[in-house]
Amino acid sequence: MHDPNEPFENLRPLDLLAIAAHPDDVEQTCGGTLIHSAEQGYRTGVLDLTAGDMGSRGNPELRIQESKAAGDELLLAWRANLRWPDARLENTTPARMTLAGVIRRLKPRTVILPYWTGRHPDHYRASEIGYEACFLAGLKKLEEDTPPHRPFKILYSSLYANVTPSFVVDISRQFERRMSALFCYSSQYGDAAEASELFPSQREVEERIAAVARFYGNLIGVKYGEPFVVKETMQTEDVVSMAVRSI
Ligand SMILES: [Zn+2]
Repeated sequence: MHDPNEPFENLRPLDLLAIAAHPDDVEQTCGGTLIHSAEQGYRTGVLDLTAGDMGSRGNPELRIQESKAAGDELLLAWRANLRWPDARLENTTPARMTLAGVIRRLKPRTVILPYWTGRHPDHYRASEIGYEACFLAGLKKLEEDTPPHRPFKILYSSLYANVTPSFVVDISRQFERRMSALFCYSSQYGDAAEASELFPSQREVEERIAAVARFYGNLIGVKYGEPFVVKETMQTEDVVSMAVRSI
């Protein structure tokens, strides 16, 4: 696991950084896209804000260990955990400043954030803190010891939001690997007796995840997909070779 405060001189900039509230969030929402991007040769990373210490199963140390194994499956160049309090994420000045400092060190061109509304308060707070930190990271006078860096693009991972995506990434070839990454969290998805009435079995999880990925894949005419929303309008250079069949 990387230290998010290691000197930024030692870090090669990332092309793509996903920021998430809990370990295993990216594996459920944008893991296929992270794998696909790494396969395209991009340097990818994940910053988890909490270690999931309010979870009914396992413990934070185990979750972080599992997230490291999952990160290898996702072909990440970098992953760290800020160990902020799970289920109590707050958008405070210190939180935004800390996150902005990490963004300045990692210099991602594109950032994936959770969708800005949702059932779990940590998810929409992570979205808001993430957005504001991306903005702050671009302010020259924010910190003396790191140069400013503002990500160019912000993508909102909308898999659990019932909204029309701006675009869907074809993850058909990455789907199995993404599933393996998710099941690295064996404390969460194993068929452990502990809290079993609260947690679905591994087979149920597999079915649910495949059904959702199939739904989004279907929107673009492929087997499995992951949806994203962007707030700005998409641009195309070539209207003749555009993907996704109309009729
Ligand atoms: Zn979560």
